[in-house]
Amino acid sequence: MKIGVFGGTFNPIHRGHLAAASAAAGQLSLDKLLLIPDAIPPHKPLPSGSAGAEERLEMVQLCTAEVSAPVEVLDLELRRQGASYTCDTLAQLREQYPEEELFLLMGSDMFLSFETWRQPERICDLATLAVFSRREESEAAAFARQKKRLEETYGAHIRVLENPEVVEISSTELREKLSRGAGRAYLTEPVYGYILRKGLYGTKADLKHLTPE
Ligand code: ATP
Repeated sequence: MKIGVFGGTFNPIHRGHLAAASAAAGQLSLDKLLLIPDAIPPHKPLPSGSAGAEERLEMVQLCTAEVSAPVEVLDLELRRQGASYTCDTLAQLREQYPEEELFLLMGSDMFLSFETWRQPERICDLATLAVFSRREESEAAAFARQKKRLEETYGAHIRVLENPEVVEISSTELREKLSRGAGRAYLTEPVYGYILRKGLYGTKADLKHLTPE
């Protein structure tokens, strides 16, 4: 079985995450995709005004139908103490799935800074890296250089994926849009409704515009 592992802060989960996850699921013929929100991201402290970890998890759970593969949302990083290191998550998953092929999905920003992660070599032992672009402009040259470097340094196995429907947005940009009443198009409707109901990211709930649940 081929299992995709897609972690992130998902603060909030948006159409960029979902388009990339679906493209990866198709190209890798994944049997299952695990979506894993982090509790405490090691590299970027959560900004003030973030949604709580449980809220980020619930928003991810609202999106499972949007990905073209069977999806499971795992709260294993929320249940661990301390920073959410991918090496620990993969080790946990490897115990659960000793025989399966694991693919660690990541966008270009993560791939190009991979050496700064904790225990990159162990990550490369545990999973194939499956990387996709977050930008319309070609990142092929930078990807090729980084692929070679990680193969040579860590013996990494790397699949570079097409991302035919790049959605150039980050959660940071989206939070800023939401705080001034924009950004709806980047969200699924259930997540947009959730954000309004909870008044997350400085939104003012105007429940008249929501369809009933
Ligand atoms: P922030 O702006 O809060 O740092 P982000 O959207 O950049 O948020 P995460 O939610 O932590 O970051 O991203 C999780 C994973 O999704 C990472 O591998 C990241 O590269 C990828 N990703 C984020 N945004 C996009 C996008 N628009 N298209 C494709 N992949 C994305």
